[in-house]
Amino acid sequence: MKQKQQSLLRKLPGVDHVLEAWDKKQPMDDVPRTLLVRSIRTTLDQLRTRILAGDETLDETTFDDDQLLQLISQAADKSMEFNLKRVINATGVVVHTNLGRSLLPESVAQHVAEISSRYSNLEFDLEKGARGSRYSCVEDILCEITGAEAAMVVNNNAGAVFLSLETMAKGKEVIVSRGELVEIGGSFRIPDVMARSGAKLVEVGTTNRTHLPDYENAIRDETALLLKVHTSNYSILGFTADVPLEDLVALGAKYHLPVMYDWGSGNFVDFSKYGLTAEPTAQETMATGIDLLTFSGDKMLGGPQAGIILGRKDVLEQIKKNPLTRALRIDKLTLAALEALLHLYRDESTAVAAIPTLRMLTLSLKIIDSKARRLRNRLKKIGDARLETVIMKASSRVGGGALPLQELPTKCVGVKIDGLSANAIERLTRESMPPVIGYIEEDLFVMDARTIQDEEIAVIASTFKSILMGG
Ligand SMILES: *Cc1c(COP(=O)(O)O)cnc(C)c1O
Repeated sequence: MKQKQQSLLRKLPGVDHVLEAWDKKQPMDDVPRTLLVRSIRTTLDQLRTRILAGDETLDETTFDDDQLLQLISQAADKSMEFNLKRVINATGVVVHTNLGRSLLPESVAQHVAEISSRYSNLEFDLEKGARGSRYSCVEDILCEITGAEAAMVVNNNAGAVFLSLETMAKGKEVIVSRGELVEIGGSFRIPDVMARSGAKLVEVGTTNRTHLPDYENAIRDETALLLKVHTSNYSILGFTADVPLEDLVALGAKYHLPVMYDWGSGNFVDFSKYGLTAEPTAQETMATGIDLLTFSGDKMLGGPQAGIILGRKDVLEQIKKNPLTRALRIDKLTLAALEALLHLYRDESTAVAAIPTLRMLTLSLKIIDSKARRLRNRLKKIGDARLETVIMKASSRVGGGALPLQELPTKCVGVKIDGLSANAIERLTRESMPPVIGYIEEDLFVMDARTIQDEEIAVIASTFKSILMGG
């Protein structure tokens, strides 16, 4: 070890000494004692690691009480922040799985706040004055909107698929097309989920083409279910064929076998009216006569994390009786959010205007362009010659594994700062409060206006102001 390192290590004070110095100066007065001691320890540990690594920027002045207390205040400050915090999504990915997927509409969030901070009739029937079902508040409205006979909600769609398979096909066979054995993020793979549910996967057809006789030829006494899976996050192009849901439903009817569809995302609104790829709605899908349909609450539906199960009454009765529903049940916050969201869906134009996911997906290029220009103007107003901005054309993405090929023309603001690399800007904005998450393209830091909320424009401007001031 070099002499300088040894001498620095010797000068590094102990926890008790720093604690005493803190008590004398009290740079922050509201730090709980255990947190303070922890912050001192981690700060000293970090300094020791830096000394051992031969960090040239360290010298004895780093260990002056004032300097050290400042480092510890910063560490304590950081520990007192919430780990889970709001961020500004400037990535242009609307249903961003890493950034919380869907945003609840303000009115929905308010309802959640009220229900969660008060007693509620969660499992109490106010008309009968007796115990009620926690799912009743959303069952009727789900049926009303989708035309389903019965409905049920669990923790997420992965749970909905698992519960449905476990109920309908444990110890039996489930027929699925080879082209639909999907893996989605977070290691949810149809073959694995199937195995865990105790159902046996019977693959039919080929990767690119599966026909009705492929299913029919695989049906035997052990068959319990015909399953269709939405290929959410990929598309098979070229010489392809799959069996339409209607034909699968007819085949199921012929052999008295239930047909289930893992729909992944899921929508009540026909997005093709707004220029997006056509995807049948839940109403149209239920009208095929399908027995079971499962989808997410927080993908293109734009609500809270939940797994929605729609289907025939007798099938849903079986699912509700499965003891696993207790392990997968949703809490009152989710129920409150889902019910309030479903109320918005009673009127399509209300839903498209009020539900952020829907609003962002259907924004016109003109509106996005004006948002991008407003952001650029705010940045220009900072009046710093080192900052260069351009308006750029780009493509946003739906995200959440939905409509992977969908092009969503958008406008972005690209930023350059003289003396800072794009990587440095990306890091500084990400470490700001609130963090601003954008992306790098060539030598620019890029922010997509589609996913930036109106009131966030001013926040982004002040983020850049403080970055430029070196704060
Ligand atoms: C997203 C998805 C799931 C899982 O849904 P979660 O709500 O994330 O649990 C299951 N199947 C398909 C086809 C999906 O796209």
